[in-house]
Amino acid sequence: MTSARADVLIIGGGVAGLWARAALRRSGWSVILSEPRALGAGQTAASQGILHRGVKYALSADAREASNSLASAQADWRGALGLLEHETAPMIDLRGTEILSRRMHLWASGFLEKATGVGASLSMRSEVRRLARPDYPPAFRESPQGLALWEVDELSVSASSLVERLADAADGPVVHARTGGQPTWAGSTHSNTVCLRGDGGRACDITASAVVLAAGEGNEGLLGGLGGEGIMQRRPLHMVIADGAPVPLFAHLPRPGSDKPRLTITSARTFRGWCWYIGGDVAETGVARSREEQINFAKRELSETLGWIDLSPARWSAFRIDRAEGRTEAGRRPDGPVVRRFGRVLAVWPTKLALAPIAARMIQEQLRELGVVPGVGACENLAGWPRPPVAQPPWNDPELVWT
Ligand SMILES: Cc1cc2nc3c(=O)[nH]c(=O)nc-3n(C[C@H](O)[C@H](O)[C@H](O)COP(=O)(O)OP(=O)(O)OC[C@H]3O[C@@H](n4cnc5c(N)ncnc54)[C@H](O)[C@@H]3O)c2cc1C
Repeated sequence: MTSARADVLIIGGGVAGLWARAALRRSGWSVILSEPRALGAGQTAASQGILHRGVKYALSADAREASNSLASAQADWRGALGLLEHETAPMIDLRGTEILSRRMHLWASGFLEKATGVGASLSMRSEVRRLARPDYPPAFRESPQGLALWEVDELSVSASSLVERLADAADGPVVHARTGGQPTWAGSTHSNTVCLRGDGGRACDITASAVVLAAGEGNEGLLGGLGGEGIMQRRPLHMVIADGAPVPLFAHLPRPGSDKPRLTITSARTFRGWCWYIGGDVAETGVARSREEQINFAKRELSETLGWIDLSPARWSAFRIDRAEGRTEAGRRPDGPVVRRFGRVLAVWPTKLALAPIAARMIQEQLRELGVVPGVGACENLAGWPRPPVAQPPWNDPELVWT
């Protein structure tokens, strides 16, 4: 058994852990990050990769706060991706991340637009533009007359490419390791020692001034010995994939008065054409449906709302995944990231991929409050440990069943 020291040990290599690591390294903290599976292997790789600006939430009166926190993370993302007008060296350099689309579209039938005023609500957002038919993207060129279409500068990124760039955006150990047994946590005045175990019988005791639990739904188990029971919630989804669409689509179909779009669709190139990744309300309500029922329901939704696009050559799949978040009283989505402190252990749930920069700032604030100052140098003892692989998107999962 070897041992190593660091200012901060981060457990979990999804977007929350990786962004926090890059931000902490930039401010001088020494950091070890451990990941037992693959980087991004939880919700991050399964996410739709939309760096929301909060427009879809602005349609609902009780989601304004969520909308504001998303809007405030935009500068971090655009800076990191090198997309700001006056380019300076980014704080966290994610240039080279694959940007799948620079804009999301929002569509409504002419009838719905008139009946509900959805267009009026959208027009109040300066970043939303109504499109004239000659400017329609390929997916909407054959749409019936009377359709209303808007666009917003909302980025969609490839989650696996983002994870790869984030892992390279800072130096210091990122190790393929699990925590050995239930760690015993120290109180608020002492450092914690956590045993990491890797392949080939590797083991190392890490002593860190603070530990950040960024393990998504894995936080629940890790919090067991800390009195953190019941502070996490899961919100399940039943996502649908249609591989073989003729055109790409990055779009929300808003549901007036609701912060949950009826459909949210992003796309990736595959050898069959375009793979549509389908979420939104269809995925939330689909939790009660079997896989077959869910695919059939999604097909009906798409034929009703995008009936001019021929999806007959596509193969279909569906899979279940939970969103892990800080608990709210009504079980609703929290308005922003949640960071909870237990002595020198912080548990983080960013709530959204897009909110990872804000979650990282909250972690830094809490570390300062705890008096954890940058101090310890590099952690040489972990130099020979392998780095975890990067998780693949759901449609590349060899175990996915296709219909
Ligand atoms: C289907 C879906 C679509 C989404 N789409 C979007 C979107 O378009 N835009 C957006 O902003 N947000 C989206 N989200 C939300 C977003 O994906 C999550 O908020 C975010 O990825 C959470 O990141 P995380 O790092 O906290 O957790 P995760 O990504 O789940 O990462 C946790 C990591 O910890 C590791 N781990 C687990 N247990 C342990 C353990 N015991 N010890 C050590 N490590 C452990 C896991 O292997 C994993 O790598 C979506 C979520 C889902 C499920």
